[in-house]
Amino acid sequence: MKFLSTRGKDKIENSFDTILKGIAADGGLFVPEEIPSLNIEQLVGKSYIELANEVIGTIFNDIEKDDLSDAIKKAYHKFGNKILDIRTIGNVSFLELYHGPTAAFKDFALCLLPQLMMLSLKDKNMDKKVVILTATSGDTGKAALEGFKDVDGIDVIVFYPTDGVSSIQKYQMITQDGKNTHAVGIKGNFDDAQSALKNIFLDKDFSVELDKNGFTLSSANSINIGRLVPQIVYYIYAYLDLVKENKIKIGDKVNVCVPTGNFGNILAAYLAKQMGTPIDKLICASNENDVLTEFFNSGKYDANRNLKVTTSPSMDIIVSSNLERLLYFVSKGNSNLISNLMEDLKTNKFYEVSEELKSNLDDFYAYEISDSKGMEIIKNIFDNNNYLIDTHTAVGYGAYTNYVNETGDDKPVIIASTASPYKFPLWVSKSINIDNNENEFALINEINNITKMEIPTNLKDLDKKRITQNLVIDKNEIKNSIADILKVGD
Ligand SMILES: *Cc1c(COP(=O)(O)O)cnc(C)c1O
Repeated sequence: MKFLSTRGKDKIENSFDTILKGIAADGGLFVPEEIPSLNIEQLVGKSYIELANEVIGTIFNDIEKDDLSDAIKKAYHKFGNKILDIRTIGNVSFLELYHGPTAAFKDFALCLLPQLMMLSLKDKNMDKKVVILTATSGDTGKAALEGFKDVDGIDVIVFYPTDGVSSIQKYQMITQDGKNTHAVGIKGNFDDAQSALKNIFLDKDFSVELDKNGFTLSSANSINIGRLVPQIVYYIYAYLDLVKENKIKIGDKVNVCVPTGNFGNILAAYLAKQMGTPIDKLICASNENDVLTEFFNSGKYDANRNLKVTTSPSMDIIVSSNLERLLYFVSKGNSNLISNLMEDLKTNKFYEVSEELKSNLDDFYAYEISDSKGMEIIKNIFDNNNYLIDTHTAVGYGAYTNYVNETGDDKPVIIASTASPYKFPLWVSKSINIDNNENEFALINEINNITKMEIPTNLKDLDKKRITQNLVIDKNEIKNSIADILKVGD
Protein backbone atom coordinates (compact mmCIF):
# COMPACT_ATOMS: atom_id res chain seq x y z
CA MET A 1 0.00 0.00 0.00
CA LYS A 2 1.13 3.52 -0.78
CA PHE A 3 0.11 6.49 1.34
CA LEU A 4 -0.42 10.01 0.05
CA SER A 5 -0.51 13.30 1.89
CA THR A 6 -3.87 15.09 1.84
CA ARG A 7 -1.90 18.17 0.75
CA GLY A 8 -0.29 16.44 -2.22
CA LYS A 9 3.40 16.98 -1.58
CA ASP A 10 4.42 13.84 0.27
CA LYS A 11 4.08 10.17 -0.49
CA ILE A 12 5.32 7.05 1.28
CA GLU A 13 5.58 3.65 -0.33
CA ASN A 14 4.89 1.39 2.65
CA SER A 15 2.89 1.07 5.84
CA PHE A 16 5.75 0.94 8.35
CA ASP A 17 7.35 4.22 7.27
CA THR A 18 3.98 5.92 7.21
CA ILE A 19 3.18 4.81 10.75
CA LEU A 20 6.62 5.87 11.99
CA LYS A 21 6.43 9.25 10.34
CA GLY A 22 2.99 10.14 11.72
CA ILE A 23 2.45 13.41 9.86
CA ALA A 24 3.37 14.26 6.25
CA ALA A 25 6.27 16.61 5.48
CA ASP A 26 3.89 19.15 3.89
CA GLY A 27 1.80 19.34 7.06
CA GLY A 28 -0.91 17.09 5.60
CA LEU A 29 -2.19 13.75 6.87
CA PHE A 30 -1.48 10.41 5.21
CA VAL A 31 -4.30 8.51 3.53
CA PRO A 32 -4.13 5.15 1.74
CA GLU A 33 -3.82 5.60 -2.01
CA GLU A 34 -6.93 3.49 -2.42
CA ILE A 35 -9.53 2.24 0.00
CA PRO A 36 -9.79 -1.52 -0.44
CA SER A 37 -13.18 -3.22 -0.37
CA LEU A 38 -14.13 -6.21 1.71
CA ASN A 39 -16.62 -8.97 1.09
CA ILE A 40 -18.69 -8.40 4.20
CA GLU A 41 -20.81 -11.56 3.84
CA GLN A 42 -17.72 -13.73 4.09
CA LEU A 43 -16.78 -12.17 7.41
CA VAL A 44 -19.84 -13.25 9.40
CA GLY A 45 -18.90 -15.34 12.42
CA LYS A 46 -15.27 -14.27 12.64
CA SER A 47 -13.80 -13.55 16.06
CA TYR A 48 -12.61 -10.02 16.80
CA ILE A 49 -8.99 -11.07 16.34
CA GLU A 50 -9.70 -12.80 13.03
CA LEU A 51 -11.61 -9.80 11.77
CA ALA A 52 -8.84 -7.42 12.86
CA ASN A 53 -6.33 -9.45 10.84
CA GLU A 54 -8.58 -9.35 7.81
CA VAL A 55 -9.44 -5.64 7.93
CA ILE A 56 -6.09 -4.21 9.05
CA GLY A 57 -4.31 -6.61 6.69
CA THR A 58 -6.14 -5.27 3.63
CA ILE A 59 -4.91 -1.73 4.31
CA PHE A 60 -1.48 -2.45 5.80
CA ASN A 61 -1.16 -5.17 3.17
CA ASP A 62 2.63 -4.98 2.97
CA ILE A 63 3.16 -6.09 6.58
CA GLU A 64 4.04 -9.81 6.84
CA LYS A 65 0.85 -11.71 7.73
CA ASP A 66 2.48 -13.56 10.62
CA ASP A 67 4.01 -10.40 12.06
CA LEU A 68 0.69 -8.58 11.88
CA SER A 69 -1.17 -11.48 13.42
CA ASP A 70 1.33 -11.65 16.25
CA ALA A 71 1.06 -7.90 16.87
CA ILE A 72 -2.75 -8.04 16.94
CA LYS A 73 -2.73 -10.98 19.32
CA LYS A 74 -0.38 -9.20 21.72
CA ALA A 75 -2.36 -5.94 21.52
CA TYR A 76 -5.78 -7.37 22.33
CA HIS A 77 -4.43 -9.75 24.91
CA LYS A 78 -4.30 -6.65 27.14
CA PHE A 79 -8.10 -6.40 27.01
CA GLY A 80 -8.85 -9.49 29.10
CA ASN A 81 -11.51 -11.94 27.94
CA LYS A 82 -14.00 -9.40 26.65
CA ILE A 83 -12.57 -7.15 23.95
CA LEU A 84 -15.83 -5.28 23.47
CA ASP A 85 -19.47 -5.61 24.34
CA ILE A 86 -22.68 -4.56 22.64
CA ARG A 87 -25.78 -3.60 24.58
CA THR A 88 -28.91 -3.34 22.46
CA ILE A 89 -31.97 -1.45 23.69
CA GLY A 90 -34.67 -1.35 21.00
CA ASN A 91 -33.11 -0.05 17.79
CA VAL A 92 -30.10 1.32 19.59
CA SER A 93 -26.93 -0.71 20.02
CA PHE A 94 -24.35 0.79 22.35
CA LEU A 95 -20.96 -0.40 21.19
CA GLU A 96 -19.02 -0.55 24.46
CA LEU A 97 -15.47 0.27 23.49
CA TYR A 98 -14.16 0.76 27.01
CA HIS A 99 -13.09 -2.69 28.15
CA GLY A 100 -9.40 -2.10 27.41
CA PRO A 101 -6.60 -1.24 29.85
CA THR A 102 -7.48 2.48 30.23
CA ALA A 103 -11.29 2.31 29.98
CA ALA A 104 -11.77 4.32 26.76
CA PHE A 105 -11.91 3.41 23.06
CA LYS A 106 -8.43 4.82 22.42
CA ASP A 107 -7.03 1.50 23.67
CA PHE A 108 -8.12 -0.23 20.46
CA ALA A 109 -5.52 1.67 18.47
CA LEU A 110 -2.99 2.48 21.16
CA CYS A 111 -2.44 -1.12 22.19
CA LEU A 112 -1.65 -2.02 18.59
CA LEU A 113 0.34 1.03 17.48
CA PRO A 114 3.38 0.27 19.70
CA GLN A 115 3.44 -3.30 18.37
CA LEU A 116 3.43 -2.01 14.80
CA MET A 117 6.12 0.56 15.60
CA MET A 118 8.31 -2.11 17.16
CA LEU A 119 8.01 -4.24 14.03
CA SER A 120 8.82 -1.23 11.96
CA LEU A 121 11.95 -0.40 13.99
CA LYS A 122 13.10 -3.98 13.63
CA ASP A 123 12.39 -3.90 9.91
CA LYS A 124 14.45 -0.76 9.42
CA ASN A 125 17.21 -1.70 11.83
CA MET A 126 16.76 1.74 13.23
CA ASP A 127 19.58 3.10 15.36
CA LYS A 128 17.62 6.11 16.58
CA LYS A 129 15.25 6.34 19.48
CA VAL A 130 11.68 7.15 18.50
CA VAL A 131 10.01 9.84 20.59
CA ILE A 132 6.23 9.69 20.56
CA LEU A 133 4.73 13.13 21.11
CA THR A 134 1.07 13.21 22.01
CA ALA A 135 -1.44 15.94 22.74
CA THR A 136 -4.39 14.71 24.74
CA SER A 137 -7.79 15.92 25.78
CA GLY A 138 -7.69 13.21 28.44
CA ASP A 139 -8.00 9.68 27.11
CA THR A 140 -5.37 9.43 24.37
CA GLY A 141 -2.67 10.40 26.85
CA LYS A 142 -3.24 7.57 29.25
CA ALA A 143 -3.80 5.05 26.48
CA ALA A 144 -0.51 6.12 24.81
CA LEU A 145 1.44 6.01 28.09
CA GLU A 146 0.10 2.57 28.85
CA GLY A 147 0.53 1.29 25.28
CA PHE A 148 4.13 2.46 24.89
CA LYS A 149 5.24 1.79 28.46
CA ASP A 150 8.63 0.01 28.55
CA VAL A 151 8.69 -0.54 24.80
CA ASP A 152 12.37 -0.71 23.79
CA GLY A 153 13.64 2.04 21.53
CA ILE A 154 10.67 4.34 22.16
CA ASP A 155 10.05 7.25 24.55
CA VAL A 156 6.56 8.68 25.01
CA ILE A 157 5.75 12.26 26.08
CA VAL A 158 2.14 13.28 26.63
CA PHE A 159 0.80 16.84 27.05
CA TYR A 160 -2.58 17.22 28.76
CA PRO A 161 -4.52 20.35 29.82
CA THR A 162 -3.95 20.42 33.56
CA ASP A 163 -7.35 22.04 34.21
CA GLY A 164 -9.26 20.39 31.38
CA VAL A 165 -9.52 16.71 32.33
CA SER A 166 -11.43 14.76 34.97
CA SER A 167 -9.58 13.90 38.21
CA ILE A 168 -9.70 10.26 37.22
CA GLN A 169 -8.11 11.02 33.85
CA LYS A 170 -5.45 13.15 35.53
CA TYR A 171 -4.65 10.52 38.14
CA GLN A 172 -4.38 7.87 35.46
CA MET A 173 -1.62 9.94 33.86
CA ILE A 174 0.25 11.30 36.86
CA THR A 175 0.56 7.86 38.43
CA GLN A 176 1.94 6.33 35.24
CA ASP A 177 4.85 3.97 35.73
CA GLY A 178 7.41 2.82 33.15
CA LYS A 179 10.93 4.00 32.50
CA ASN A 180 10.16 5.69 29.15
CA THR A 181 6.94 7.57 30.00
CA HIS A 182 6.41 11.31 30.58
CA ALA A 183 3.12 13.06 31.31
CA VAL A 184 3.29 16.85 31.28
CA GLY A 185 0.42 19.12 32.34
CA ILE A 186 0.05 22.36 30.39
CA LYS A 187 -1.67 25.58 31.36
CA GLY A 188 -3.67 25.62 28.15
CA ASN A 189 -6.11 23.42 26.28
CA PHE A 190 -5.98 20.51 23.84
CA ASP A 191 -5.85 22.76 20.78
CA ASP A 192 -2.83 24.59 22.23
CA ALA A 193 -1.05 21.28 22.69
CA GLN A 194 -2.06 19.84 19.31
CA SER A 195 -1.02 22.92 17.34
CA ALA A 196 2.28 23.25 19.23
CA LEU A 197 3.08 19.63 18.42
CA LYS A 198 2.11 19.98 14.75
CA ASN A 199 4.58 22.91 14.53
CA ILE A 200 7.27 20.89 16.26
CA PHE A 201 6.85 18.04 13.75
CA LEU A 202 7.43 20.53 10.93
CA ASP A 203 10.30 22.37 12.66
CA LYS A 204 13.35 21.43 10.53
CA ASP A 205 15.97 22.91 12.86
CA PHE A 206 14.60 21.08 15.84
CA SER A 207 14.47 17.88 13.87
CA VAL A 208 18.15 18.24 12.89
CA GLU A 209 19.03 18.93 16.53
CA LEU A 210 17.12 15.84 17.67
CA ASP A 211 18.64 13.76 14.94
CA LYS A 212 22.16 14.72 16.08
CA ASN A 213 21.22 13.47 19.52
CA GLY A 214 19.87 10.18 18.20
CA PHE A 215 16.14 10.91 18.29
CA THR A 216 13.37 10.89 15.71
CA LEU A 217 9.80 12.06 16.32
CA SER A 218 6.48 10.34 15.77
CA SER A 219 2.90 10.85 16.89
CA ALA A 220 0.31 8.77 18.69
CA ASN A 221 -2.48 11.22 17.89
CA SER A 222 -5.12 10.30 15.36
CA ILE A 223 -3.17 12.29 12.77
CA ASN A 224 -1.20 9.01 12.61
CA ILE A 225 -2.85 6.58 10.17
CA GLY A 226 -1.83 3.78 12.55
CA ARG A 227 -4.43 5.13 14.96
CA LEU A 228 -7.30 5.09 12.48
CA VAL A 229 -7.03 1.73 10.81
CA PRO A 230 -7.50 -0.44 13.93
CA GLN A 231 -10.69 1.53 14.72
CA ILE A 232 -12.37 0.48 11.46
CA VAL A 233 -12.52 -3.07 12.74
CA TYR A 234 -15.05 -2.57 15.54
CA TYR A 235 -17.68 -0.96 13.35
CA ILE A 236 -17.57 -3.94 11.02
CA TYR A 237 -17.59 -6.28 14.01
CA ALA A 238 -20.64 -4.53 15.44
CA TYR A 239 -22.47 -4.81 12.13
CA LEU A 240 -21.68 -8.52 11.85
CA ASP A 241 -22.72 -9.07 15.45
CA LEU A 242 -26.15 -7.56 14.75
CA VAL A 243 -26.44 -10.01 11.86
CA LYS A 244 -25.36 -12.91 14.06
CA GLU A 245 -27.90 -11.94 16.73
CA ASN A 246 -30.65 -11.80 14.06
CA LYS A 247 -31.28 -8.14 14.73
CA ILE A 248 -30.67 -7.38 11.05
CA LYS A 249 -30.17 -9.42 7.87
CA ILE A 250 -26.87 -9.24 6.04
CA GLY A 251 -27.05 -6.30 3.63
CA ASP A 252 -29.56 -4.32 5.74
CA LYS A 253 -28.34 -0.82 6.41
CA VAL A 254 -27.61 0.62 9.83
CA ASN A 255 -26.74 4.14 10.94
CA VAL A 256 -23.70 4.90 13.04
CA CYS A 257 -23.50 7.68 15.62
CA VAL A 258 -20.21 8.82 17.14
CA PRO A 259 -19.48 11.35 19.90
CA THR A 260 -16.79 13.32 18.14
CA GLY A 261 -13.72 15.40 18.99
CA ASN A 262 -10.76 15.11 16.65
CA PHE A 263 -12.97 13.31 14.07
CA GLY A 264 -10.86 10.13 14.14
CA ASN A 265 -13.42 7.67 15.42
CA ILE A 266 -16.20 8.76 13.07
CA LEU A 267 -13.75 8.78 10.17
CA ALA A 268 -13.02 5.13 10.95
CA ALA A 269 -16.79 4.47 10.64
CA TYR A 270 -16.80 6.31 7.31
CA LEU A 271 -13.91 4.12 6.12
CA ALA A 272 -15.81 1.01 7.27
CA LYS A 273 -18.65 2.19 5.03
CA GLN A 274 -16.30 2.88 2.10
CA MET A 275 -14.88 -0.63 2.51
CA GLY A 276 -18.33 -2.10 1.98
CA THR A 277 -20.09 -2.24 5.37
CA PRO A 278 -23.81 -1.47 4.84
CA ILE A 279 -23.75 1.77 6.81
CA ASP A 280 -26.21 4.47 5.77
CA LYS A 281 -25.89 7.74 7.69
CA LEU A 282 -23.08 8.87 9.96
CA ILE A 283 -24.27 11.01 12.85
CA CYS A 284 -21.60 13.34 14.22
CA ALA A 285 -22.32 14.32 17.82
CA SER A 286 -20.70 17.36 19.43
CA ASN A 287 -20.82 18.85 22.89
CA GLU A 288 -21.06 22.63 23.39
CA ASN A 289 -17.87 22.98 21.35
CA ASP A 290 -20.06 22.68 18.26
CA VAL A 291 -17.70 23.65 15.41
CA LEU A 292 -18.42 20.43 13.54
CA THR A 293 -22.20 20.76 13.89
CA GLU A 294 -21.98 24.19 12.36
CA PHE A 295 -19.67 22.93 9.63
CA PHE A 296 -21.91 20.09 8.47
CA ASN A 297 -24.93 22.38 8.50
CA SER A 298 -23.38 25.43 6.82
CA GLY A 299 -20.18 24.36 5.06
CA LYS A 300 -18.31 26.92 7.18
CA TYR A 301 -15.56 25.86 9.55
CA ASP A 302 -15.18 28.66 12.06
CA ALA A 303 -12.47 28.20 14.68
CA ASN A 304 -12.75 31.81 15.88
CA ARG A 305 -14.22 30.94 19.24
CA ASN A 306 -13.16 30.08 22.74
CA LEU A 307 -12.97 26.51 23.87
CA LYS A 308 -15.50 25.57 26.54
CA VAL A 309 -14.64 23.11 29.28
CA THR A 310 -17.58 20.69 29.29
CA THR A 311 -18.62 17.50 31.07
CA SER A 312 -17.35 15.53 28.06
CA PRO A 313 -13.74 16.80 28.13
CA SER A 314 -12.37 14.32 25.61
CA MET A 315 -14.44 16.15 22.98
CA ASP A 316 -13.36 19.66 24.00
CA ILE A 317 -11.68 20.45 20.70
CA ILE A 318 -11.98 23.26 18.17
CA VAL A 319 -9.65 22.12 15.41
CA SER A 320 -10.71 18.59 14.44
CA SER A 321 -7.70 17.30 12.53
CA ASN A 322 -9.23 14.33 10.78
CA LEU A 323 -11.87 16.37 8.99
CA GLU A 324 -9.01 17.13 6.61
CA ARG A 325 -8.95 13.48 5.59
CA LEU A 326 -12.70 13.42 5.00
CA LEU A 327 -12.52 16.53 2.83
CA TYR A 328 -9.74 14.88 0.86
CA PHE A 329 -11.86 11.78 0.22
CA VAL A 330 -15.06 13.62 -0.68
CA SER A 331 -13.21 16.01 -3.00
CA LYS A 332 -11.81 12.92 -4.78
CA GLY A 333 -8.29 13.66 -3.67
CA ASN A 334 -8.15 17.34 -4.60
CA SER A 335 -4.99 18.10 -2.63
CA ASN A 336 -4.72 21.67 -3.96
CA LEU A 337 -8.12 22.45 -2.55
CA ILE A 338 -7.24 20.84 0.79
CA SER A 339 -3.96 22.79 1.00
CA ASN A 340 -5.86 26.03 0.39
CA LEU A 341 -8.56 25.27 2.96
CA MET A 342 -5.96 24.36 5.58
CA GLU A 343 -3.98 27.50 4.77
CA ASP A 344 -7.20 29.50 5.33
CA LEU A 345 -7.70 27.73 8.62
CA LYS A 346 -4.18 28.55 9.71
CA THR A 347 -4.25 32.24 8.76
CA ASN A 348 -7.92 33.14 9.31
CA LYS A 349 -9.09 30.36 11.61
CA PHE A 350 -11.87 29.90 9.09
CA TYR A 351 -12.69 28.18 5.81
CA GLU A 352 -15.76 27.53 3.74
CA VAL A 353 -16.31 24.70 1.27
CA SER A 354 -18.16 25.03 -2.03
CA GLU A 355 -21.82 24.00 -2.41
CA GLU A 356 -20.67 21.14 -4.59
CA LEU A 357 -18.29 19.79 -1.99
CA LYS A 358 -20.88 20.26 0.74
CA SER A 359 -23.35 18.18 -1.26
CA ASN A 360 -20.85 15.30 -1.14
CA LEU A 361 -21.14 15.32 2.64
CA ASP A 362 -24.78 14.30 2.77
CA ASP A 363 -24.00 10.98 4.46
CA PHE A 364 -23.28 13.08 7.53
CA TYR A 365 -25.72 14.59 10.01
CA ALA A 366 -24.47 16.65 12.93
CA TYR A 367 -25.98 17.84 16.21
CA GLU A 368 -24.84 19.62 19.32
CA ILE A 369 -25.88 18.44 22.79
CA SER A 370 -25.52 20.65 25.85
CA ASP A 371 -24.09 19.49 29.17
CA SER A 372 -27.48 19.70 30.87
CA LYS A 373 -29.18 17.71 28.10
CA GLY A 374 -26.45 15.09 28.36
CA MET A 375 -27.07 14.67 32.09
CA GLU A 376 -30.80 14.29 31.51
CA ILE A 377 -30.05 11.54 29.01
CA ILE A 378 -27.83 9.64 31.45
CA LYS A 379 -30.65 9.76 34.01
CA ASN A 380 -33.37 8.69 31.56
CA ILE A 381 -31.44 5.75 30.21
CA PHE A 382 -30.52 4.65 33.70
CA ASP A 383 -34.07 5.02 35.06
CA ASN A 384 -35.71 3.30 32.12
CA ASN A 385 -33.19 0.60 31.30
CA ASN A 386 -30.96 0.25 34.32
CA TYR A 387 -28.04 0.96 32.03
CA LEU A 388 -25.35 3.53 32.74
CA ILE A 389 -23.52 5.47 30.04
CA ASP A 390 -20.81 8.10 30.30
CA THR A 391 -21.06 11.81 29.43
CA HIS A 392 -19.55 11.40 25.94
CA THR A 393 -21.85 8.55 25.00
CA ALA A 394 -24.77 10.64 26.28
CA VAL A 395 -23.87 13.32 23.73
CA GLY A 396 -23.98 10.57 21.10
CA TYR A 397 -27.40 9.36 22.22
CA GLY A 398 -28.76 12.91 22.28
CA ALA A 399 -27.57 13.55 18.74
CA TYR A 400 -29.13 10.28 17.60
CA THR A 401 -32.49 11.31 19.11
CA ASN A 402 -32.30 14.66 17.34
CA TYR A 403 -31.56 12.85 14.10
CA VAL A 404 -34.62 10.60 14.46
CA ASN A 405 -36.81 13.59 15.31
CA GLU A 406 -35.57 15.47 12.28
CA THR A 407 -35.65 12.68 9.70
CA GLY A 408 -38.00 10.01 11.05
CA ASP A 409 -35.30 7.47 10.18
CA ASP A 410 -35.25 5.00 13.05
CA LYS A 411 -33.39 2.13 11.43
CA PRO A 412 -30.99 0.27 13.77
CA VAL A 413 -28.16 2.48 14.95
CA ILE A 414 -24.76 1.70 16.41
CA ILE A 415 -23.72 4.32 18.96
CA ALA A 416 -20.05 4.34 19.87
CA SER A 417 -19.88 4.16 23.66
CA THR A 418 -16.48 5.69 23.98
CA ALA A 419 -15.63 5.58 27.69
CA SER A 420 -16.58 3.88 30.92
CA PRO A 421 -18.95 5.98 33.06
CA TYR A 422 -16.48 5.45 35.90
CA LYS A 423 -14.00 7.73 34.15
CA PHE A 424 -16.31 10.69 34.74
CA PRO A 425 -17.87 9.95 38.14
CA LEU A 426 -18.49 13.57 39.12
CA TRP A 427 -20.95 14.29 36.33
CA VAL A 428 -22.32 10.77 36.00
CA SER A 429 -23.20 10.65 39.70
CA LYS A 430 -24.76 14.09 39.55
CA SER A 431 -26.89 12.94 36.61
CA ILE A 432 -28.36 10.06 38.59
CA ASN A 433 -28.89 12.22 41.69
CA ILE A 434 -26.13 10.86 43.87
CA ASP A 435 -25.21 13.48 46.45
CA ASN A 436 -21.77 14.42 45.25
CA ASN A 437 -19.90 16.53 47.69
CA GLU A 438 -17.35 13.77 47.75
CA ASN A 439 -14.27 13.39 45.64
CA GLU A 440 -14.31 11.46 42.36
CA PHE A 441 -12.66 8.40 43.89
CA ALA A 442 -15.31 8.02 46.58
CA LEU A 443 -17.98 8.57 43.94
CA ILE A 444 -16.79 5.56 41.96
CA ASN A 445 -17.85 3.37 44.86
CA GLU A 446 -21.12 5.27 45.32
CA ILE A 447 -22.03 4.73 41.68
CA ASN A 448 -21.14 1.08 42.00
CA ASN A 449 -23.38 0.69 45.07
CA ILE A 450 -26.35 2.05 43.20
CA THR A 451 -25.84 0.68 39.71
CA LYS A 452 -24.01 -2.57 40.52
CA MET A 453 -22.11 -1.98 37.31
CA GLU A 454 -18.61 -3.42 37.46
CA ILE A 455 -15.75 -0.99 38.14
CA PRO A 456 -12.90 -1.40 35.62
CA THR A 457 -9.93 -2.90 37.49
CA ASN A 458 -7.63 -0.20 36.15
CA LEU A 459 -9.66 2.52 37.90
CA LYS A 460 -9.83 0.82 41.29
CA ASP A 461 -7.65 2.41 43.99
CA LEU A 462 -6.17 4.87 41.56
CA ASP A 463 -5.92 7.51 44.31
CA LYS A 464 -3.72 5.21 46.36
CA LYS A 465 -1.11 4.91 43.64
CA ARG A 466 2.11 6.91 43.91
CA ILE A 467 2.31 10.15 41.90
CA THR A 468 5.27 9.81 39.57
CA GLN A 469 4.64 12.58 37.04
CA ASN A 470 4.20 16.08 38.40
CA LEU A 471 5.57 18.43 35.76
CA VAL A 472 3.22 21.30 34.80
CA ILE A 473 4.34 23.95 32.29
CA ASP A 474 3.05 26.95 30.40
CA LYS A 475 1.57 26.20 26.97
CA ASN A 476 4.42 28.15 25.33
CA GLU A 477 7.04 25.94 26.93
CA ILE A 478 6.19 22.72 25.13
CA LYS A 479 9.20 22.65 22.81
CA ASN A 480 11.61 23.56 25.62
CA SER A 481 10.22 20.90 27.86
CA ILE A 482 10.70 18.26 25.15
CA ALA A 483 14.33 19.37 24.83
CA ASP A 484 14.69 19.20 28.63
CA ILE A 485 13.18 15.76 28.92
CA LEU A 486 15.40 14.41 26.14
CA LYS A 487 18.41 16.39 27.42
CA VAL A 488 18.94 18.00 24.03
CA GLY A 489 20.49 21.47 23.55
CA ASP A 490 21.67 23.66 26.40
C1 LIG B 1 -11.21 10.76 22.19
C2 LIG B 1 -12.59 10.62 22.66
C3 LIG B 1 -13.68 11.04 21.90
C4 LIG B 1 -13.49 11.73 20.56
O1 LIG B 1 -12.97 10.86 19.59
P1 LIG B 1 -12.29 11.45 18.24
O2 LIG B 1 -11.77 10.27 17.54
O3 LIG B 1 -11.22 12.39 18.70
O4 LIG B 1 -13.38 12.15 17.51
C5 LIG B 1 -14.95 10.82 22.37
N1 LIG B 1 -15.16 10.24 23.56
C6 LIG B 1 -14.14 9.82 24.34
C7 LIG B 1 -14.44 9.20 25.66
C8 LIG B 1 -12.82 9.99 23.91
O5 LIG B 1 -11.81 9.56 24.69
